[in-house]
Amino acid sequence: MTDNAMMDCFGFRSVESSDFVNVDGCFVDKEVLPFYNKLKERLAEDGFALRLESGYRPFERQLSIWNRKASGELKLLDANGVPMERPADEEKLMYVILTWSALPGASRHHLGSDLDVVDGNACPEGYEVQLTPAECNGMFAPFHQKLTQLMDSGDAFGFSRVFVPGRGKIQPEQWHIAHLPTSRKRLENFSLTELRRIYERTDIACKSALLDNLDRLAEDYIYPYFI
Ligand SMILES: [Zn+2]
Repeated sequence: MTDNAMMDCFGFRSVESSDFVNVDGCFVDKEVLPFYNKLKERLAEDGFALRLESGYRPFERQLSIWNRKASGELKLLDANGVPMERPADEEKLMYVILTWSALPGASRHHLGSDLDVVDGNACPEGYEVQLTPAECNGMFAPFHQKLTQLMDSGDAFGFSRVFVPGRGKIQPEQWHIAHLPTSRKRLENFSLTELRRIYERTDIACKSALLDNLDRLAEDYIYPYFI
């Protein structure tokens, strides 16, 4: 394994690299693109317009989200999605951020194989997508039912949901789909020891709490999703 291959899974690839293609303003690993296009065509047969809301996300971007949530620049939400006070205790703050934001360096969006998707045909004119359970149970419900049916019957071209009820401690996310044959290859290179080293040399909020709890965090927020 090269160092580069190892660092790929932590989100250190540049979006300008030839590894990525731009789809709907998001970056997708070019290995995933043919399967994405097949899924899009299959869904179109039933009147759905598969559209990306998010794809590859570099480490720096996830770090920025994490640090802005910790500083109060971005809203902190409780498990019900309701804005809440910023806890003074660093460990408590870390767990609140983890309710809705992945650990920088361990987000599946670093893999290039994972996508947040919606049905473009179900979006009202000018509607800004939030990616919430309410949307999945509302305007996007028929789209998600079809997606579930395709996945269950093995007709989703390698795509699966990852954040499902009963797995790990991350909130379920119906809109998040992963091309598993690609993500499995990337995840072979993941190393918790390397993630620890990255945190040690990074200006990351809640650093002591992250380093003190990293093994436990991996059991709850990282490894359950290595599927
Ligand atoms: Zn996602």
